[in-house]
Amino acid sequence: MAERKIETTSTMTLYEWASLAEDVQELVRRAKAAAENAYAPYSGFLVGAAVMLQDGQFYSANNQENVCFPVGVCAERILLGYTHANFPNVPPVKMAIVARRAAGENDYATVTPCGLCRQSISEYELKFRLPIDIYMYMPSGDVLHAHGIEQLLPLKFEDLNQ
Ligand SMILES: [Zn+2]
Repeated sequence: MAERKIETTSTMTLYEWASLAEDVQELVRRAKAAAENAYAPYSGFLVGAAVMLQDGQFYSANNQENVCFPVGVCAERILLGYTHANFPNVPPVKMAIVARRAAGENDYATVTPCGLCRQSISEYELKFRLPIDIYMYMPSGDVLHAHGIEQLLPLKFEDLNQ
């Protein structure tokens, strides 16, 4: 039996700050502010995430580490868990993620959602049947945009079961 290659592709857009829509700028500002309150005494990697729900409301969260490392939870999953716990019928439509190396310094780091968070984002897209626009802040001040988790998680779990 012959074999053949199957390729997946991702398409993302890098935006300069000034070209971002006002609501996306606000989302990133809120993620930046949330990163300042991250509890990351072990890694020093401060992550903030902000989400805009379909009703236009903004919420934010940050990573919470633990001395027992696996217990720590990422900003994105804390945020999506909180919003879905409190607003289970309002889909998240936009999310921004910001990270920095140490509090109090202008030292931003490039960040994308980890594998667990990608699967978690996928879950809420699956539930609401709506893609979540994901905006990842870059140290340059530019913002990388993925339209839906599919761009970051090809061949995601749900795809194999439908
Ligand atoms: Zn994560």
